[in-house]
Amino acid sequence: MIPYGKQDISQADIDAVTEVLGSDFLTQGPVIPRFEDAVKTSVGAGFSVAVNSATSALHIACLALDLGPGDRLWTSPITFVASANCALYCNASVDFVDIDPTTYNLCPQALEQKLIAAELAGALPKIVVPVHLAGQSCDMKAIKALSDRFGFRIIEDASHAIGAAYGDEKVGSCHYSDITVFSFHPVKIITTAEGGMAVTNDPVLAGKMERLRSHGITRDPHLMTHTPHGPWYYQQIELGFNYRMTEMQAALGCSQMTRLHEFIERRQQLAAQYAELLNDLPLMLPYQLETTASSWHLYIIRLQLSELSKSHLDVFNELRSAGIGVNLHYIPVHLQPYYRQMGFADGDFPHAEQYYQEAISIPLFHAMTDEQQLQVATSLRRILI
Ligand SMILES: *Cc1c(COP(=O)(O)O)cnc(C)c1O
Repeated sequence: MIPYGKQDISQADIDAVTEVLGSDFLTQGPVIPRFEDAVKTSVGAGFSVAVNSATSALHIACLALDLGPGDRLWTSPITFVASANCALYCNASVDFVDIDPTTYNLCPQALEQKLIAAELAGALPKIVVPVHLAGQSCDMKAIKALSDRFGFRIIEDASHAIGAAYGDEKVGSCHYSDITVFSFHPVKIITTAEGGMAVTNDPVLAGKMERLRSHGITRDPHLMTHTPHGPWYYQQIELGFNYRMTEMQAALGCSQMTRLHEFIERRQQLAAQYAELLNDLPLMLPYQLETTASSWHLYIIRLQLSELSKSHLDVFNELRSAGIGVNLHYIPVHLQPYYRQMGFADGDFPHAEQYYQEAISIPLFHAMTDEQQLQVATSLRRILI
């Protein structure tokens, strides 16, 4: 089976991890700050906090922005459940904004309409989480303009988008947001096995997230209620968690970061080749805005079902039978049973639901060969025509 995504681990990656295993620190050592520096330098942010997953990063990002009971967080229904769950961890409520039917990202026009209605109802969100689906940035300028007008904060879920660009800047510069979150799960662009990072330009938010990552503990005398008893002293000043990354993970991350450029180049090349190979098929290929350069975490095609004699499920099953490890990103979050029980229902977000009827993620990963790609394209052609 050709997988839809796969990590690429080099001998240098393996050596970096085994070297740490023989060192003095397996956690809370010198490699984590090195990895944090590598990511923040690469994306152009001021501060970075490494954690054990993007899910944890989303959670502490919400807490750093004071999301709590009675507050609202809005995100896209076409995302992994973690983009929405982070609000529920903070006892806030979740709502969704429908996607743009061409980019599949959260639609700024739909957001504006929903904000106008929410303002009248006195129910504005505290946080909006735009998700850069497949690695293409959302229209951040438009979303930031709405945040200035309506007063919400922005957390970019860039789990798919390390190495992507928006305008002249890298995703993660936080030029149009308060915090940006990355995932290093093995299917993503770079990996630390499990792992994530929150980046920001605000030192206060960075300090809060650092404390929340490690039990809410501080060793900074300025933040304590009285002078330290001695050099051993620390204080817990809020309720945090153990969301720390290990040194082995950070070492893998550092080594993977040196290959980020190479990863993105190959993904962009594969995407350009898919566009050539598939352009005459009854498919909608990924639409790219001029202002964005995708990191191509996913290559999502949409079936033009009116031109096909087969169903979405048939095409999906036939591709799997042909050894093509297709997948579907994502089931609309509002239709998950856990969210339905909050009152969400079919028909709430029609563009997202239509997308779900047609979308398929086809294989795209760094080590994919041209031959494998040709096999995917040939199978698709045979199944569709
Ligand atoms: C993978 C992913 C996450 C969660 O990442 P973890 O590191 O596995 O916690 C969150 N949001 C999106 C959009 C993702 O794709």
